[in-house]
Amino acid sequence: MKNISVIGSGTMGNGIAHVFAQHGHPVSLIDISQDALDRALTTISKNMDRQVGKGIITEDEKNQSLGRISTFTSLEDGVKSADLVVEAATENMNIKLDLFRKMDEFSPTSAILATNTSSISITKIAAVTKRPSQVIGMHFMNPVPVMKLVEVIRGYSTSDEVTVEIMTLSQNLGKEPVEVNDYPGFVANRILMPMINEAIYTLFEGVAGVSEIDTVMKLGMAHPMGPLQLADFIGLDVCLSILKVLHDGFGNPKYAPCPLLVNMVEAGFKGVKTGEGFYQYTKGSKDIVVAPRFIK
Ligand code: NAD
Repeated sequence: MKNISVIGSGTMGNGIAHVFAQHGHPVSLIDISQDALDRALTTISKNMDRQVGKGIITEDEKNQSLGRISTFTSLEDGVKSADLVVEAATENMNIKLDLFRKMDEFSPTSAILATNTSSISITKIAAVTKRPSQVIGMHFMNPVPVMKLVEVIRGYSTSDEVTVEIMTLSQNLGKEPVEVNDYPGFVANRILMPMINEAIYTLFEGVAGVSEIDTVMKLGMAHPMGPLQLADFIGLDVCLSILKVLHDGFGNPKYAPCPLLVNMVEAGFKGVKTGEGFYQYTKGSKDIVVAPRFIK
């Protein structure tokens, strides 16, 4: 698989384009506006500068990698010569189903269609295409150029051949792919989100404060980041929507989102992206400051 198209140039899409380009693939990066694409190219360039600074790549390799990325606002043009399309657009079922219908219509019939979704059923997405055996989950972790894991998710109809191709390709990108089956939350979020939800319940019930909960998990369990800080980093709205997928998918009350999480999202406190969640974030500062409402 040589030519890669990446749909969506946000946090994940620009990281995915970065990694493929760095490993020699021509990449077509697609988004709905040229502004979004220009911002993505600036981010990729800055992230590659960091890699140059650390001696991971040379300035020459950076320029060659950037030269492999072309941008498109037309999906039809962006996928027409793809061997693999990786969809990393907004986490919304209708957007993804619509995109997969178009990817199926406009990409070569031999192309594999992958999604980076955190929680939407691969089987459901595959069912809107005429090639469900060639549809697969390729769940990269954030930040993509740094994180080793790719959770490779087999939909109900995904073929063995396509799974092997995506596992091998992920290894060739320097990643460690793990094969899992398509059930709500897959593996990563099925285990992570209940832990985050329980941390929020622990705060909600007054068992301990924000920094106490995170400190217990960091020092006691050797987690690099506490669950409340991690929730802020992922986005509290994203955590809530994944918990809803688990709750709906299994019909088990143990996945019910904590009312504090629901309130925070409804009030617009979504973590790092809005400047406040369990912690408060100031641009340019790396200090970890608990949000005032959680200080007694
Ligand atoms: P984001 O909001 O940063 O970026 C989404 C991009 O998709 C935006 O640039 C938007 O303009 C674009 N987009 C929306 N509709 C489009 C369309 N019809 N055609 C082309 N582009 C379109 O989101 P993100 O955090 O990069 O998440 C993308 C996907 O990756 C989601 O499915 C998410 O669940 C998944 N994911 C996110 C993370 C994370 O930590 N952020 C981790 C793993 C997986």
